[in-house]
Amino acid sequence: MDSLLEGYRQFRTGYFPHNREIFKELAQGQSPKAMVISCCDSRVDPGLIFNAAPGEIFSLRNVANLVPPYSPDDNHHSTSAAIEFAVRALKVPHIVVMGHARCGGIRALMGAHEGDFIGPWMRIAEPARDHIVRTAGDQPPAVLQRLCEHEILKTSLANLRSFPWIQTALKDGSLRLHGLYFEVETAELQRLNEEDGTFSTL
Ligand SMILES: [Zn+2]
Repeated sequence: MDSLLEGYRQFRTGYFPHNREIFKELAQGQSPKAMVISCCDSRVDPGLIFNAAPGEIFSLRNVANLVPPYSPDDNHHSTSAAIEFAVRALKVPHIVVMGHARCGGIRALMGAHEGDFIGPWMRIAEPARDHIVRTAGDQPPAVLQRLCEHEILKTSLANLRSFPWIQTALKDGSLRLHGLYFEVETAELQRLNEEDGTFSTL
């Protein structure tokens, strides 16, 4: 905790005074350039990776950067609520789903599900895992994990398209969806080409 408070002191006396005008303007409201859906993983910080100023990224982080399918009911839908706010209230022009290498959530998916919540949450990604195991099951575990991390981006993007107001925004051209994959060790960023499902390095 001490290191966090020390970090805050540095922010308050260094970054903040230099950017006071930005915060003053942001106090009136936000108009982020994009929503980024990424993993909670401490090594994958969208603000840092995209060199973003405060107010530029509407950031949603959850285990394994998953988007559930559209399913309005009485359960607690944190991810869907954030997506709804970004699309319907803030009208973000882009949603980026960013996966990453060595994801702990996906490791759990490839092995035994554990915990009260992680297992049920990761069920969103089971079709992606089953597809990879079916088509590349003879590969070593590290390769399978990476293929699954890639495949899950496609699942999240497909699930985003199940939200009716996202379909509308895509149709009228006010919203675009993107898939990115971050390599922790080298900071390489790959972009998903949805036409053929391949990834190319940026
Ligand atoms: Zn992760």
